[in-house]
Amino acid sequence: MVAVSGGKDSVALLHILVKIEKVFPKACLCAVTVDEGVRGYRDEALNFAIGNCRKLGINHVVTSFKELYSYSLDEIVKMTLEKGESGKGLTPCAYCGVLRRRALNLAARKAGVDKLATAHNLDDEAQTMLLNILHGDALRIARVKPVLAEVHPKFVQRVKPLCEVPEKEIALYAYLKRIEFQSVPCPYAPTALRSDIRVMLNRMEEKHAGIKFTLIKSVERIRPGLEAVAEEVKLQDCRECGEPTVGEICKPCQMLRKLDIR
Ligand SMILES: [Zn+2]
Repeated sequence: MVAVSGGKDSVALLHILVKIEKVFPKACLCAVTVDEGVRGYRDEALNFAIGNCRKLGINHVVTSFKELYSYSLDEIVKMTLEKGESGKGLTPCAYCGVLRRRALNLAARKAGVDKLATAHNLDDEAQTMLLNILHGDALRIARVKPVLAEVHPKFVQRVKPLCEVPEKEIALYAYLKRIEFQSVPCPYAPTALRSDIRVMLNRMEEKHAGIKFTLIKSVERIRPGLEAVAEEVKLQDCRECGEPTVGEICKPCQMLRKLDIR
């Protein structure tokens, strides 16, 4: 199952995997889109996702925050602003990231697939590594790998086939292949620390070509050491929703509880 947002990376990944799949008749490909409920942004992207899947003849599942959590991201953001949550460091992207990962896993499990491919590219990965370090969460680097470890039967294994491909090259591929995708960025994106890191890395890459790649390669070399010191996470069922989690209550439930949704 390919997670398709409708942006250039995920749509390009879908086109590439469809091509590869033809050589592997035993493999089966489908797609999922999570509608987070961002007005004027997601609705348009959703149409690109639907259009590309239809064109390629791919089974496509659409799931939404509204249907899963009763509220769209726009509504959640509005609630956090009213509650003053935004001042405590939880950005729309923090909510969206956690809730979207859960939505993707639920959809993948429901579809009965054994791999969930996301279109994270070299730029995303380099940003994530720096973000983890800047957040003081360096050991997370041990867990965030191109092919995630199978830690629990309820987690569908995630893979990132484009993790060594620069964003610019994917964009070029999409343009050359005349692939239709959404080019408008998410209106909430500039609120995240990630956005500052993106600007910084792009500026550095311009002066010192190849630094994103060397950053990722350095992390690959350090990772075995980090894995050795990182404690093995023991997963248990969330008390509220039954999904696997490290603590008693999973992150999505904690977030929803903060909003008094549950
Ligand atoms: Zn839960």
